[in-house]
Amino acid sequence: MRAQPTASHFVDGAYLEDEAGTPFDSIHSATGEVIARLHAATPAVIDKAMKAAARAQKEWAATPPAARARVLRKAADLIYANNQALSELEALDTAKPIQETLVADATSGAEALEWFSAQAASIAGEAVPLGTDFAYTVREPLGVCVGIGAWNYPTQIACWKAAPALACGNAMVFKPSELTPLSTLKIAEIFMEAGAPAGLFNVVQGMGEVGAALTTHPLTAKVSLTGSVPTGGKVYAAAASGMRHATMELGGKSPMIVFDDADIEDAVGGAMLGNFYSAGQICSNGTRVFVQAGLEERFLERLIERTKEIRLGDPMDPETQMGPLVSEAQREKVLGYIETGKREGATLAHGGGVPSGGLFDKGAFVEPTIFSDVTDEMTIAREEIFGPVLSLLTFETEEEAVERANATPFGLAAGVFTGDITRAHRVAGALEAGICWINAYNLTPVEAPFGGVKQSGFGRENGRAAMEFYSQLKTIHVGLAPVDSPY
Ligand code: NAD
Repeated sequence: MRAQPTASHFVDGAYLEDEAGTPFDSIHSATGEVIARLHAATPAVIDKAMKAAARAQKEWAATPPAARARVLRKAADLIYANNQALSELEALDTAKPIQETLVADATSGAEALEWFSAQAASIAGEAVPLGTDFAYTVREPLGVCVGIGAWNYPTQIACWKAAPALACGNAMVFKPSELTPLSTLKIAEIFMEAGAPAGLFNVVQGMGEVGAALTTHPLTAKVSLTGSVPTGGKVYAAAASGMRHATMELGGKSPMIVFDDADIEDAVGGAMLGNFYSAGQICSNGTRVFVQAGLEERFLERLIERTKEIRLGDPMDPETQMGPLVSEAQREKVLGYIETGKREGATLAHGGGVPSGGLFDKGAFVEPTIFSDVTDEMTIAREEIFGPVLSLLTFETEEEAVERANATPFGLAAGVFTGDITRAHRVAGALEAGICWINAYNLTPVEAPFGGVKQSGFGRENGRAAMEFYSQLKTIHVGLAPVDSPY
């Protein structure tokens, strides 16, 4: 397998360049180095990709499900076999530590393909007896699905969308984020090697305009976006204008509630994972950590002790636990929130700065940051920061914690840490979120549905539920009695 993609786009089974498109660079944000120069898709490239996908989709939908399953399974195996190279490319593209990309990116994509390959062969409708007549339902593909990705998990996002889409008999045109354009091109290569028809999975590059053009293309049956809430509003409205299907995987400001009977090491570990993994650039992060008043002091002490041990550094070094943010612009945004937190009266308990010396002087690094004494109305407790910034809030009673946790327009995820099994389920039931973890955080196995409520979006990825969002039901009524016509 070649290490680097050889052109900007992958369309109709081959790499494609069109230098008429707006040029843009992929930058490794740990060093500021340009790692690739690409061109945004022109209308001609977009049209070519959509037409190739429409053609491939017909062939693919007519392929027996077991044969489709074999292609997905082979693609999964190829990803597992090439995990090292794919993870290195992902670490270069996103600047996430190789320690993470080796276990959470390509492999997560492969797991989705593996699991949905098993589902592909079991798609079925139902028979509906109607007395003399009967009806049956068929679950049909939608057609060409457009996937639009965020920059934090490019390979995972592409595969979480492609796996159920292709399993159901659809084709896909995927646009990765302009900040992380490279790794999904390798996934397109892998689909070809696995035996997918040319055009089944295409990758086109570009900024928001390219995503917008894909969303409203006449051949688009569905759009699935992973991105921010403001972008989600635009894409959903554009999809609605053509009555297209939509899935919105958007941002969050998720709560994590820690009761005083929780296992403190587990809760601290969960809070760290839910705020510092991928330098905090995870949609479902539990960025509002509500700790019961009696536990706060001990919790904060252990949190700081353990956070001090996080090894920041070169993402390509296997020892590094935390890399820089994806871009200089994202670092500026995160540092702005840290300043706002200080100005609005939160206590900066740890971090908050920029490390210096060596690589730190070149890259978009921010220290893992902990604010205590945070109150609900502070900006850092209300807005998605998308960086390594944890806000600690305290509460007295369960009712209060639940009410405050739910007082947000977002509803992606939530967590509860407690030793009381009854309370755990009661609180999980009361939290307004698409996914709720009990004594765990940010686990997203492919077997379980993932997605948001409220402004965090709708539709689901993963689990059998995802298939419903990439297929539609047709009912076929079979008349067996003479036609009873009054005319
Ligand atoms: P973003 O909304 O800026 O961009 C997302 C994608 O949409 C990019 O590919 C971008 O080019 C494209 N885009 C922008 N404008 C568009 C338009 N008008 N029409 C079509 N496409 C358009 O998000 P981001 O900064 O890349 O990613 C961070 C956000 O993604 C955060 O809010 C995060 O919470 C969210 N996210 C959500 C999930 C989830 O599963 N819920 C997962 C990862 C990230």
